[in-house]
Amino acid sequence: MSLKDRIQQVEHRIQAACERSGRRRDDVNVVAVTKYVGLETTGMLLDEGIVHIGENRPQNAVPKWEALEGRGVWHFIGHLQTNKVRDVIGKFQYIHSLDRLSLAKELEKRAAAQGITVSAFLQVNVSGESSKHGVSPEEAADLLREIASYPHIRIIGLMTMAPIEDNPELTRPVFRGLRELRDRLNAQKITKEPLTELSMGMSGDFEVAIEEGATWVRLGTILVGKGEEM
Ligand SMILES: *Cc1c(COP(=O)(O)O)cnc(C)c1O
Repeated sequence: MSLKDRIQQVEHRIQAACERSGRRRDDVNVVAVTKYVGLETTGMLLDEGIVHIGENRPQNAVPKWEALEGRGVWHFIGHLQTNKVRDVIGKFQYIHSLDRLSLAKELEKRAAAQGITVSAFLQVNVSGESSKHGVSPEEAADLLREIASYPHIRIIGLMTMAPIEDNPELTRPVFRGLRELRDRLNAQKITKEPLTELSMGMSGDFEVAIEEGATWVRLGTILVGKGEEM
């Protein structure tokens, strides 16, 4: 299947999920995850009108970003080591994996030095799996309270990853949990502006995530395959 066809097929499924759940298509954004593919496919996605590009390793992402001269809007979606912040700051407008105070401090310092503001999602480990990064739901409020005083970080929402399931329906409680946590945090008025965004849903579970309120889905395999250059 061509890249164009894949994008179109995903688009239909997103639209159907929006219709099922009474949501507006415009409220759901797609981050095309290009970690499995090289420069060529990443460039083709941009040519097809994809705007948001997601990468999870600075050492792969930065050379791509440079070769593409920063075309598109770049999202850092993987675990971010503190000593890699200087490589990604100023290139990635969105960080989906803010999960600890030490990382927030480094992001604040580097963003301030460049005179920019970085948009971030607090990554929450809703499922409680030990293999997953992210703060526990109970820790989220305290961390948000701390980061709220950092002028160069704008926390726009929450991010989570659901367990890999053969039946995507089983991921629903995790996505619902993230939405309910966001609503509780907003009711507590911890952040200056309400948290509007939910980054959740990948190739195997994005429709359930949309039904539960995702505003950003992160799609790799379903768009670009796995490890193949097209
Ligand atoms: C790889 C990755 C994705 C995309 O995964 P697919 O299942 O290939 O769609 C989404 N989010 C994160 C954090 C990832 O690392």
